[in-house]
Amino acid sequence: MAGVKTWLDSWPVYRQLTGADPFGRGSAARSKATDATVSRTATADKVVKSVCPYCAVGCAQNVYVKDEKIVQIEGDPNSPINRGRLCPKGSASKQLVTSPSRVTTVRYRRPYGTEWEDLDLDTAMEMIADRVLAAREKGWQVEDGPADNRRRVNRTMGIASLGGATLDNEENYLMKKLYSALGAIQIENQARI
Ligand code: SF4
Repeated sequence: MAGVKTWLDSWPVYRQLTGADPFGRGSAARSKATDATVSRTATADKVVKSVCPYCAVGCAQNVYVKDEKIVQIEGDPNSPINRGRLCPKGSASKQLVTSPSRVTTVRYRRPYGTEWEDLDLDTAMEMIADRVLAAREKGWQVEDGPADNRRRVNRTMGIASLGGATLDNEENYLMKKLYSALGAIQIENQARI
């Protein structure tokens, strides 16, 4: 008889008709698999605070880490900006760091090249620095204005900066400092708010 009772208890309609959940919205509708499921947020070793990198709203995130690997990213309920919510893009941001298709090396296609090459980071940084310095020098202006009214400007027109909407306050501050120090005057951001 106990076997029959166990079998009946595995049947949601039976549980709904005989149990404490007559509308079938709770325990009557739950399967054993659901009961055995443990969320990744419950088994994480630690939670790291972060900010969604995708847009200028800047939703706060809780990044759940287990064995030094990201296992889940959710909205931070303590943030006054998103109060625990993330849009579909932000909800998928775990894939940004864990997806096997993520590019983790510097990719370079040289002039007239037909294939992409991998570069080590130090080489790529040296190449970028060389190009920045060359463009700065090539576009350097000491003076500007009509011949009878020259003004000292000491600036470069060879470099411009267009920031992305995901840049935060601190990053924009540093970029403005860097480009102004290089003598650039065309420094812009793409913030949406
Ligand atoms: S979760 Fe969505 S709205 Fe929030 S910062 Fe990310 S992309 Fe923007």
